[in-house]
Amino acid sequence: MRKKIIAGNWKMNMTPTESVALCETLKPLVAGADADVVFCVPAIDIIPVKEAIKGTNISLGAENVYFEDKGAFTGEISAPMLKDAGVEYVVIGHSERREYFAETDETVNKKLLKALEYGIIPIVCCGESLTQREQGITLDWIRMQIKIAFQNVTADQAKTVVIAYEPIWAIGTGKVATTEQAEEVCGGIRKCIAEIYDEATAETIRIQYGGSVNASNAAELFAQPDIDGGLVGGASLKADFSKIVKYNA
Ligand code: PEP
Repeated sequence: MRKKIIAGNWKMNMTPTESVALCETLKPLVAGADADVVFCVPAIDIIPVKEAIKGTNISLGAENVYFEDKGAFTGEISAPMLKDAGVEYVVIGHSERREYFAETDETVNKKLLKALEYGIIPIVCCGESLTQREQGITLDWIRMQIKIAFQNVTADQAKTVVIAYEPIWAIGTGKVATTEQAEEVCGGIRKCIAEIYDEATAETIRIQYGGSVNASNAAELFAQPDIDGGLVGGASLKADFSKIVKYNA
């Protein structure tokens, strides 16, 4: 049985002061959850959030990482920096990074390898646009994203990775994929992992759904056999996030 993993993606929200206040609100509410709980926070919030969640069941995540260890890359943050700061998870290849910051499947692959090298668990995002869905190429597109992202990743490494399936048209729009659509793609991703590696790797890897997850749709989505939790944007900034985390309560 795979343990569910529910991660909040705070995006570019929450000042350091606000980040601590949100942690104080959520800490008691998410305590005792069956699922793994992760807060993926802006770089400047990493240190205060680490302090604020000490001794709780919340794990610390970052929203991005660069693929070089160090050097003249102004504004970037490296995997060794994140590791030293206590970061356990990192979101890689979010569609917003692909759209606004020119991330490609190739940079996603490099970042994935770098995070794994430093023992940080990647949450690798993939997803199709509305046009691609309407063209009927969703699964082909996502299989390509996954195949490139996992190049040179061993089966043992792949077992530790989290994949987030996030249809771009469902992110921040309030338009959630139907449970059938979400399950179809998450199942397709698992099949793709089985083809790249083997059944054991496919059965171990955790696949989240992301895209307008909220307290009222989480339980149905997470009940699907291939959906192992969620990557949650907007709804992770509110006390209601605890209802998503405790979707089965
Ligand atoms: C996200 O940012 O990964 C996301 C899924 O956002 P939202 O939940 O707001 O759609």
